[in-house]
Amino acid sequence: MKKISLLYFLLAAGSIVLAQAKRTCGFDQVQQQISQHPDFNTYQKNKQLAYKNVRLQKTDTVIRIPVVVHVIHRLAAENISTAQINSQIAVLNKDFRKKNADTTNATGWSIADVKFEFVLATRDPSGNTSTGITRTATTIDNICANSNQYATLRPAWNPERYLNIWVCDVGDFILGFAYPPNAPNISPAEDGVVIGHNYFGTVGSIQAPWNLGRTTTHEIGHYFDLLHLWGNDNNPSCNTDDGIADTPNQADEEYNCATRTSCGSVDQLSNFLQYVDDDCMGNFTLGQKNRMRMALYTQRDSLQFGDLLNLTSISEQNLFSKTLLYPNPNHGLFQIELTNVGGLNRFEIEVYNMAGKLVAVETKTNQSGLLINMETAANGVYFVRITNGEFSSTKKLIKH
Ligand SMILES: [Zn+2]
Repeated sequence: MKKISLLYFLLAAGSIVLAQAKRTCGFDQVQQQISQHPDFNTYQKNKQLAYKNVRLQKTDTVIRIPVVVHVIHRLAAENISTAQINSQIAVLNKDFRKKNADTTNATGWSIADVKFEFVLATRDPSGNTSTGITRTATTIDNICANSNQYATLRPAWNPERYLNIWVCDVGDFILGFAYPPNAPNISPAEDGVVIGHNYFGTVGSIQAPWNLGRTTTHEIGHYFDLLHLWGNDNNPSCNTDDGIADTPNQADEEYNCATRTSCGSVDQLSNFLQYVDDDCMGNFTLGQKNRMRMALYTQRDSLQFGDLLNLTSISEQNLFSKTLLYPNPNHGLFQIELTNVGGLNRFEIEVYNMAGKLVAVETKTNQSGLLINMETAANGVYFVRITNGEFSSTKKLIKH
């Protein structure tokens, strides 16, 4: 009996080692949850419509995205150093600017400079000076496993102004996961990227072969609406694809750098959205760049001005669970729709210009009449902050 138990133990331990030797990302599970949500069809339709409409506005400027890294630690090793965090930010600023030395892994493929840069936030949501790093001790094992069971126990900053990255214990079978923009099944407290502490950065508690910071590059790709190159499921098939024209259709996950062919073409193994080891990766394609920038312009639009908002130190309270501002862009009247307004029906609307200067304040006492009249304002980009003393939200507005 003892022998059988020991054998069972060894087999079980062996299978865990095998599972950990392969990259696995929790995004497919996230996608599956989203596809089962009653609002899934509306979510897909709105996204496609937004992408169709934004094409004309596409620009190619460098966008600086404020980042907050939340370190949540139960074990000492999980309380990663600031040097480890900085090493990850450095990787992002190479990978998203085509400055990584290993673009050579992608020879023959499209290699894009996405023109996203990542900066640790200099202000917290209350406007106080910040390092862009929070540290929280926990007694909960697997606090960042791929479920929303513990999401409310994790600190979170306004996802409309910051890219939240939680670095913590993600459990044994995934390296990390992320939510795509406007996922219908999550709250603002969950919107961001979750990475295991030993796959984050290039120094400190990292673990080969995921020691070059590519798990975070990969997950931020998902955060900006990229799918895995084999599509959004785990069933080997040429019927599902990532919807990007310059990444060849691929049947299934790929785990190593050897040349592979599927669906009648060579697979692009160097892509950051593969499951290959960190040192095999080297590129996003131009098609992926366009998708990520469209996702930012349409669905994470206020992030591109987050750096400015940090400087103006507009303070935040709790978020309305949903804020709509439409039609946007527009010539004159903008309608505001809020969800989860609590018990207070006195709304203050503040409009800031690109220089962070307050240009208009209005107070309304009826949620159904929440309008902003910009008819006499100069054309341009503005930020609108709506608050009722209990909740608040900041949105970008374009007057043209
Ligand atoms: Zn993934």
